Amino acid sequence: MPMFADTSPPGQCIFCRLVAGEIPSARVHEDALTIAFMDLGQVNPGHVLVATKRHAATLLDITAEEAAAVMQTARLVAHAVQAAFHPPGLTLLQANGREGDQTVFHFHLHVVPRHADDGIALSWPRKNPSTEVLLDHAAKLREALAAC
Ligand SMILES: [Zn+2]
Repeated sequence: MPMFADTSPPGQCIFCRLVAGEIPSARVHEDALTIAFMDLGQVNPGHVLVATKRHAATLLDITAEEAAAVMQTARLVAHAVQAAFHPPGLTLLQANGREGDQTVFHFHLHVVPRHADDGIALSWPRKNPSTEVLLDHAAKLREALAAC
């Protein structure tokens, strides 16, 4: 993951400035709630970031309407990326918090065209918990969901 980290306050972050048109960007799509653009950190041609227009740091800070809008824009952009660049694969990546590898603290989702041996890797160390542990985790989540 990139080492860049934007720690600007809300309203002054790099994506808020981009939404406001204060800094140039390679925009590919915009609607009432989202903006899609490319930045210099792209890892493959056609790598697009989809961000909420409103400043919200993480998935936990956006509204259900914004979440739906971001996914709809990501789907639209994925079709465009497929038509324009013909990648054999595509990955969506959305990071939250420093430990989640988020570097710009304004909600965004990456639409990443993928190719064989493109150097992108995500470590996935399986822990293989017991069924009892999984059932206990599921019960905790159902209880939490009931309170949402
Ligand atoms: Zn922002």
